Amino acid sequence: MAVNENLRTPIVSVMGHVDHGKTTLLDMIRGSAVAEGEAGAITQHIGATEVPIENIVTKCGDPSLKDRFIVPGLLFIDTPGHHAFTSLRSRGGALADLAIVIVDINEGFMPQTIESLHILKRFKTPFVVVANKIDRIHGWNPNKNSSFLASYNKQSERVKTDLDNKFYDIVGELYNLGFNSERFDRVGDFQRNIGVIPISAVTGEGISDVLMILLGLAQKFLEGSLHYTAKSPGIGTVLEVKEEKGLGTTIDTILYDGTIKKGDIIVVGSLGDPIQTKIRALLKPRPLSEIKAEEKFQQVAEVTAAVGVKISAPNLEGALAGAPVRVVSPETIDAITAEVKSEIADVQIDTDSVGVTIKADTIGSLEALVNELRKEEIPIRKAHVGDVSNRDIVEVSAIEDPFYSVIIGFNVKVLPDAKEKLQTTSEVTLFRNDVIYRLIDDYKDWAKKQKELAEKEISDTIIKPGRFRIMPDCIFRQSKPAVVGVKIVSGVVKTNVDVVNTDGEVVGKVKGLQLRGENISEAKIGMEVAMALEGPTVGRQIKEEDTLFVNVPERHAKRIEHEIYDSMTADELEALDAFLAIKRRDNPFWAK
Ligand code: GDP
Repeated sequence: MAVNENLRTPIVSVMGHVDHGKTTLLDMIRGSAVAEGEAGAITQHIGATEVPIENIVTKCGDPSLKDRFIVPGLLFIDTPGHHAFTSLRSRGGALADLAIVIVDINEGFMPQTIESLHILKRFKTPFVVVANKIDRIHGWNPNKNSSFLASYNKQSERVKTDLDNKFYDIVGELYNLGFNSERFDRVGDFQRNIGVIPISAVTGEGISDVLMILLGLAQKFLEGSLHYTAKSPGIGTVLEVKEEKGLGTTIDTILYDGTIKKGDIIVVGSLGDPIQTKIRALLKPRPLSEIKAEEKFQQVAEVTAAVGVKISAPNLEGALAGAPVRVVSPETIDAITAEVKSEIADVQIDTDSVGVTIKADTIGSLEALVNELRKEEIPIRKAHVGDVSNRDIVEVSAIEDPFYSVIIGFNVKVLPDAKEKLQTTSEVTLFRNDVIYRLIDDYKDWAKKQKELAEKEISDTIIKPGRFRIMPDCIFRQSKPAVVGVKIVSGVVKTNVDVVNTDGEVVGKVKGLQLRGENISEAKIGMEVAMALEGPTVGRQIKEEDTLFVNVPERHAKRIEHEIYDSMTADELEALDAFLAIKRRDNPFWAK
């Protein structure tokens, strides 16, 4: 077996929690071979790095291994994170064929680790887990760029045990999430088990194992999906829309099928009708050795998948990150334009009549954000790709419900005029982050706080229900005002509220409350207090052992039921129910 000419390079994405080492791992994969400058060295693409198979097998110290693999190498997307993974689509699936989930072995799983695993499960993408930062294990003796096992076998027993324990915590966490896993060298069947590879992205230990396992996964799972015809018209995905000095708007593109040439006509997805344009130039990064050269890029006549390339062409301003790029001919242009249009329409998002406004930088990320908000049952009024604009602020500031005068922006900027507007518009709250779960947590925390504040405001102004009883042998004064000892049975009694008896007749007003000689403004369940009541005379309107209620006005009773019901305590609700029962004896629709 040898490299199969009909298979393209698989595209690999690195995912994991912030600070667990995604960037360092990519730098290590890129840097090691640049420094070594060996045959089949790594090539830098636009937005991606290609590691040829020669390089991988040399790293493993056994060039004969090359015959065991059928793909020409691996293409790593330089932008790490699941944002890049979900944004970059190909025909509705993920653009990346394979993934690495990185987890700090000393910290274990974190929210983004779990989010990454959920995403990979949803897309059915084969992946490996790498347990990074093994060099941080106390007493670890580093062996630069060594394979994991070679280095592991040189460690002391104590260090090995320490690593094993941390390692099995990760295996346990994977199991809890529904994945069976094992150390990569013990996995017999990668279909059943996820391989976990302990590595250090700083010392390079285990990196060669990661590359070998990825090649193995490509071999086992991707043969069917990597078939391509080099000569066929190119198909790719926009990675980023970028302004370049002297070139105008360009699109950094990952080409995953066929060939693209200078002068080709392409169709590119945009929010309106797809863009049809002619390629002015195809650009790749200039090799490091020619760094003296003025331009960052060099022109190439054509490129073949899988590759990252910058496309310069007129009219690319409306191009959308994450959208398809297709090479067309006069015969295919109409059909393909329609296809591209419908692909974008597929991710148009159903919105609710009320809800938050969301913005994201690509269609893929917008879709991901919508999914997460839906899971949290947060309604969405409008979902758009693009930076936060003045118009967004104006629109949202007109929304009356403060919970929805909100813009949630994922990986977007605030345009200068919108920034100005925000400073003078207090009605709009803006949330911005490049981590979805943080964005959603921030919104939820804020919404919870707002709700509590609103409820507190209401409950401060609303007369709440309370039930109390006049205690025996506690008549301190007969009238003007009557002063009696009472026990609060449920709810709360404040000064200045009217009081009714069990027939619903108003018997007086609370003028004062005292607890052990001190004036207090309210008394709660269980408290025994002295109450001054203006209006009644003891023995006529009221007497010992009477049960009395706070007279909640009808308007307040309605607001309690509709606005703060959830924040009422059980005893307050009990008092409310008893009070409503009295009121509804005569009028069943009272406060309804
Ligand atoms: P990212 O946010 O996932 O891209 O994480 P980074 O690659 O930026 O790494 C975060 C921090 O961890 C940086 O200070 C790195 O130098 C450090 N780091 C990453 N990998 C390793 C490792 O294997 N060993 C050690 N000791 N530090 C590491």
